[in-house]
Amino acid sequence: MLKPNIYLFPQLDDNYGYLIKNPHATEGILVDPSDLKMCLKILELNDCKATHILLTHHHDDHIAAVQDLKNKFQSIVVGYENDKNIPQPDLKVKDEEIFEIHQNKFKVIHTPGHTLQHINYFMPDCNILFSGDTLFSIGCGRMFEGTPEVFWKSLSKIKQLPEETTIYCGHEYTLSNVKFALSIYPDNQDLQKYAHWVEQQEKEHRPTIPTKLVDQIKCNPFLQCDHEHFQKLYKSTDPIEVFGQMRKAKDNF
Ligand code: ZN
Ligand code: FE
Repeated sequence: MLKPNIYLFPQLDDNYGYLIKNPHATEGILVDPSDLKMCLKILELNDCKATHILLTHHHDDHIAAVQDLKNKFQSIVVGYENDKNIPQPDLKVKDEEIFEIHQNKFKVIHTPGHTLQHINYFMPDCNILFSGDTLFSIGCGRMFEGTPEVFWKSLSKIKQLPEETTIYCGHEYTLSNVKFALSIYPDNQDLQKYAHWVEQQEKEHRPTIPTKLVDQIKCNPFLQCDHEHFQKLYKSTDPIEVFGQMRKAKDNF
């Protein structure tokens, strides 16, 4: 089976962009390009053109380089059919739609919460997820447009993907996420171990992304809103209510 290479590259202050490219190919796919200089650099390093651009949502730190890249490479922009604020997509995709680029399959998952028209891209053949600003390592995106109900439902969809799924998210926020997570669940031993690894990565200036879904299920409090520990902490058995309180607590942390 075809296994693409995923190249992570930094953009702006703390964003990540991704280049998806088959081995030896000279055509690739960019995810959420916002930093033109860095996008051109990663393409040049890999001797590659950006034939396609995948967008998760409309925030500037995920789309700012789209027009310039399009002018240069005539890239085909892929985005959610209902997101009116992203640059006009050439390929408008629906929730649960499966499409193919360079023999790589992508499944669209509508994940409202951070924005209402946010989508994730899941690659079912290799269990890779591009989660944008929905799920972060040990955290989740700020709830700008959604409600706890839709955000929790979106996270629950991600939780149902295969455990071995590798997650590539939109930001390097892991260290601050870990501090918050430990403050509300200090006895979680998996989290303690993960926190140690995160600190080590930071110390050696290495990214903490990608991360595995199985680790997020064990350590990320925002995926554990139905867990007894958080039901007690937030005095509710309703995961939506727990999520709402946890998200608010993180905003004020
Ligand atoms: Zn965003
Ligand atoms: Fe963002």
